[in-house]
Amino acid sequence: MNKLSMQLSNEQLSAIANEYGTPVYIYHAEKIKEQYNKLKKAFAKTDTRFFYACKALTNINILKLMKSIGTDLDCVSINEVKLGLAAGFEPQQIMFTPNSVDFSEVEAGKELGVNINIDNISFLERFGNKYGGSYPISIRLNPHIMAGGNYKISTGHVDSKFGISIHQMRHIERVVKTTKLHVRGLHIHTGSEIKDINLFLNALDVMLDLARHFPKIEFLDLGSGFKVPYEETDIETDVETLGKKVGEAFKAFEKEIGKKLQIWFEPGKYLVSESGYFVVKANVIKQTTATVFVGVDSGFNHLIRPMFYEAYHRVENISNPKGSERIYTVVGNICETDTFAWDRKIAETHEGDLLCFYNAGAYGFEMSSNFNSRLKPAEVLVINNDVHLIRRRDTFEDLLRNQIEVL
Ligand SMILES: *Cc1c(COP(=O)(O)O)cnc(C)c1O
Repeated sequence: MNKLSMQLSNEQLSAIANEYGTPVYIYHAEKIKEQYNKLKKAFAKTDTRFFYACKALTNINILKLMKSIGTDLDCVSINEVKLGLAAGFEPQQIMFTPNSVDFSEVEAGKELGVNINIDNISFLERFGNKYGGSYPISIRLNPHIMAGGNYKISTGHVDSKFGISIHQMRHIERVVKTTKLHVRGLHIHTGSEIKDINLFLNALDVMLDLARHFPKIEFLDLGSGFKVPYEETDIETDVETLGKKVGEAFKAFEKEIGKKLQIWFEPGKYLVSESGYFVVKANVIKQTTATVFVGVDSGFNHLIRPMFYEAYHRVENISNPKGSERIYTVVGNICETDTFAWDRKIAETHEGDLLCFYNAGAYGFEMSSNFNSRLKPAEVLVINNDVHLIRRRDTFEDLLRNQIEVL
């Protein structure tokens, strides 16, 4: 299929917005499949598993779609694990990497039979003392590599709370030896939006070196960080070259240690970002002394990435795509600075026009809230041009649902 066929058309997006109202998140199943197939193809020559990092987007239908196209699942909370099981994943298809949770949450994961990934020495000791080698685990390491689009989404640097420092290897070994823990895998996840594949390869070098310490090792999990293009000039992580180079490094290592290893990855953004569209309505055009604002019927309570990470989302006027371009700043309706896009060339926009934010599949709806007592948007999934509502828009009653009136 060509590139364009993988995009929903303005007509499709507008029709959905007209039917289900705005703001609305729209996901395109075929685009998710396309991304997954790219990864599979790039790593076809190696024994590789892809665990969809579902914190990017957990609608149960997306999880079921992932299951049907063949991904495994990466979870960071016990509720994500339960959602995964509810969607039909087998426990051993699920990788559970919690951070700063109560130990009981790790135990709950063990009871459910999922892969447990431990990210601190304290829990390693507790798990080892309680279960010994009876339940294999993997260890999340911090390789101290600065990677990722910006500091907030980088997880492998020296100040990061994630993983166990590779400099604590001696301590890890002590715990493993004393408690007879069965270490089945090693894991790193150094950040999101890594453009330079050499960062993966450096991290892999570090991991391969450490893998020698663990005779029962079966897999190395390189986490994620696959980047997708948000801006027109952006690049996507070159998964093809990465697949080739990782494959070569693994082959050499397997030869050296005389056994096969599996490679695991945990892509979130790469699989779902570009499948997502967020359609809003221009409520007001406001000319000030300094700029022209388009005020839309949404805010950072629905799409927080621009305000939180200074993320760039392409935005287009899908009601008047051929209109002459003007310069606008697109803002939301939250009573706080709430800017989606600064100084953008957008086709001339009138009140009532539909604007679309692209690459809204990952960390979009998932990070939404009811701030300002606004309602969370609806979610729609398009599969083979069939349109399915997969989450109703919040209603006013939802705002009061868990409140207990005592006055
Ligand atoms: C968030 C996360 C991912 C996914 O990161 P993306 O940048 O969305 O691909 C993978 N693994 C773990 C452990 C994560 O926390």
